[in-house]
Amino acid sequence: MKEDCIFCKIINGDFNTEFIIENEHAVVFNDINPKAPVHMLVVPKIHVESLNELDDKNLLGELMMTVKEAAKKAGLNSYKTLINTGKDAGQEVFHMHIHIMGDKK
Ligand code: 5GP
Ligand code: ZN
Repeated sequence: MKEDCIFCKIINGDFNTEFIIENEHAVVFNDINPKAPVHMLVVPKIHVESLNELDDKNLLGELMMTVKEAAKKAGLNSYKTLINTGKDAGQEVFHMHIHIMGDKK
């Protein structure tokens, strides 16, 4: 855990954030400022700044499996995934995460 990291604090339970999924590797929760009717974030439990610092192939696979599980749980057949990497790409929270955005139709 990194003391000044908002997502580490969420994972630690500091804000009582509701987890849509929690497993060994990741948590999934709703984005506080949704850009789609369903907007969730898949966040690894370990603190890693961005995709560039994440070299664990197993964890990368587990995160993508968690994406699919979360989409299914939210009732999404169609959805977009997004990983902002670096501030010039729009990354605001420097704890790697995968956005899932979709609409229940
Ligand atoms: P980024 O721009 O880093 O890819 O995305 C960060 C996302 O985290 C943004 O969509 C923002 O709305 C979301 N976010 C930032 N702070 C919080 C928070 O405290 N709680 C939740 N649930 N989402 C947050
Ligand atoms: Zn963190």
